[in-house]
Amino acid sequence: MILFRKAADISNYLQDQRKNNRLVGFIPTMGALHHGHINLIEQSVKQQFLTVCSIFINPTQFNNAADFSRYPVTIEKDIEQLEAADCDILFLPAVEEIYPKGTKAPTHYELGFLETILEGKYRPGHFQGVCQVVNRLLDIVMPDTLYLGQKDYQQCMVISKMISSLGWENKIHIAISPTIRESDGLAMSSRNMRLTTEERKRAVLISATLQSIKSTIQPGPLDKLKKNAREELEAAGFKVDYAEIASAKDLHTIDHWDGNTKLVALIAAYLNEVRLIDNMLIN
Ligand code: AMP
Repeated sequence: MILFRKAADISNYLQDQRKNNRLVGFIPTMGALHHGHINLIEQSVKQQFLTVCSIFINPTQFNNAADFSRYPVTIEKDIEQLEAADCDILFLPAVEEIYPKGTKAPTHYELGFLETILEGKYRPGHFQGVCQVVNRLLDIVMPDTLYLGQKDYQQCMVISKMISSLGWENKIHIAISPTIRESDGLAMSSRNMRLTTEERKRAVLISATLQSIKSTIQPGPLDKLKKNAREELEAAGFKVDYAEIASAKDLHTIDHWDGNTKLVALIAAYLNEVRLIDNMLIN
């Protein structure tokens, strides 16, 4: 695996490789890698793409300074895992490489409704930061395929919207992979490392609640189901940002289900200091 730290170096290298008709698969991450990330790498390797992973803890997408400063860093282990997965290139830039003019965003991304709900509502500015970093990384890497995880359902929609508004929808294909879970159902996440043993046991209730929504949902009003989900989490000591059921297509909240509309259930909740998110397609 080749390690690049400078944007200009990786950009030049990839331009050279493209002359040999190599297609590029790109997996942007914030490191502290787990099987969820590695699965995305493997998708790209399987396609025989020149596979590029970036590790960059993006300061502009954290709306909470403590969350940023406590974000786990396990770079040596990350490199071992990437090498074992046959990743070709790791891009590991410093903040100045990504934001040579500073982190104040010069561009405002028009995300509309998506920025007003769920993660957009509870993490103000988060998706502007996500767009800022992904736009910059795409400028540098210019992949043919961008690999994203369903774990961040709303983020997939935001990035897809950004790519369309940049006019890149025919240039960059987005491949979304299902959420990889621990054996008890907990969605893998770098933030899981911050849970105590006791919190880790309780954390499974998030995926269990989603699963229970999926198996009990009926056409008709959904308010009781949502309320029960929230109350069950709260009773177990979670601070719940949302326990919502929405249209899988556009994330508009569904309060009364016609039995046909494709649904996704989404939860964001804190266990003490650690904020966890998860989602499940219902039908
Ligand atoms: P992060 O490092 O959390 O920014 O995630 C980098 C990429 O990996 C994003 O596209 C995430 O959606 C994806 N990802 C994170 N966790 C998982 C998971 N458990 N299953 C599948 N994809 C994931």
